Amino acid sequence: MTRRQINLYSPRSRTPVSPRQTRSRPLLHRARLVIPITQPPIEDGAVVVADGRILDVGPFPLIRRQWPEASARDHDETALLPTLVNGHAHLDLSALAGQIHSKKGMAEWIRSLLAAREQLDEDDLQKARALARDSLRAFGTGIVGDITSSEIHPGGKFNEVVITQTFVEVFGLHCQSLEVAIDQLPPGTRKSLANNQENVSLAAHAPYTTSATLLRQVKEWGTARDKIVSIHAAESEEEILFLNSGRGPLRDLLEERGHEPDRWEVPGCGTITYLDRLGFLDSHTLCVHAVHVSEEELPMLQRSGAGVCLCPRSNLFIGHGLPPVQQLLEAHITCSIGTDSLASNTDLNLFEEMTVLMEKSSIHPDIVLTMATLNGARNLGMASQYGSLEKGKRWLAIRVAATDSEGIVAAGRQGALEWVS
Ligand SMILES: [Zn+2]
Repeated sequence: MTRRQINLYSPRSRTPVSPRQTRSRPLLHRARLVIPITQPPIEDGAVVVADGRILDVGPFPLIRRQWPEASARDHDETALLPTLVNGHAHLDLSALAGQIHSKKGMAEWIRSLLAAREQLDEDDLQKARALARDSLRAFGTGIVGDITSSEIHPGGKFNEVVITQTFVEVFGLHCQSLEVAIDQLPPGTRKSLANNQENVSLAAHAPYTTSATLLRQVKEWGTARDKIVSIHAAESEEEILFLNSGRGPLRDLLEERGHEPDRWEVPGCGTITYLDRLGFLDSHTLCVHAVHVSEEELPMLQRSGAGVCLCPRSNLFIGHGLPPVQQLLEAHITCSIGTDSLASNTDLNLFEEMTVLMEKSSIHPDIVLTMATLNGARNLGMASQYGSLEKGKRWLAIRVAATDSEGIVAAGRQGALEWVS
């Protein structure tokens, strides 16, 4: 796929800035390569920053002339790029690292997860969450979309390490009221939702665990508040089988857990078709996984404007195979990348996900970098502030010991990067 086909560098509206009206003296960052994401990489590039905002981006000789008053910092033979956006994680599950069986399919994976989670106490979970945040940062991730159903601690240390878009997860195969689903959540989390806290939204767990009524209500809740809502969608063949027929390993699992799957009204179609019928898909929906999307469903997804977050290593870990990345990109669907949890992945290094997409799905390194930055920010509703090096956006950047996009991914895998302030 060429850059032209997916229009990587289309001009977008810029936030107007008054560059000369900053309080601090501007700082000019020069590097061998600057990767703005919204325009082609700039050899011998520069970014001017003040008060945490980007004032200018361009070729160093030009920028130096235009900003004579700026002090300068040279990053030598490195590449400057925006921090990565991990579009989908479950930091709550970090304590389960290395404890879950792989390659056994969805129902078996969930059984294994539920059994292992029962063995952990709150102290284990807290410690593992803190380590996970540090690990995200060590591998260049500055923003994470995190799914949780535990207590939210607003304004805590969390946002100092990694900026978080929290999706509070609800489910209930026969639940007919979002209010009832929210009532099951811890008090601080309920309060965050009730107060319409910024960067806190809802996720429906999955179409095979969430009633049609609850799915509609989650979407209505998001629409009323102009928030992006998320869902695990079209992840496994087992899910597609259950939605089509009400049968299979997920039915058995739901039966075992007392969820009475035989009372559930079988939609008789694939996940994307089902969500489309329910009105769940629009530009404020983030579908996570999208491994099993049929050819007929691709235009449905595209028309809706919903974003997709791909978690390729999690899919391989559980045994689902890989998502149809080329087809999704060709259909102009905004694809971001996530690690999913440490219950279905070995680490939270987003550069490893990029490598899988490059090696197994032949995606160009420039495209995977866009997916891991700007598309990630778009799919979390944060692209007006983050995801690219553009005038007016916040300065949140890393430097990587490499001088081309393929080298950036290779070096990032090894952790050969630093945060730039
Ligand atoms: Zn997930």
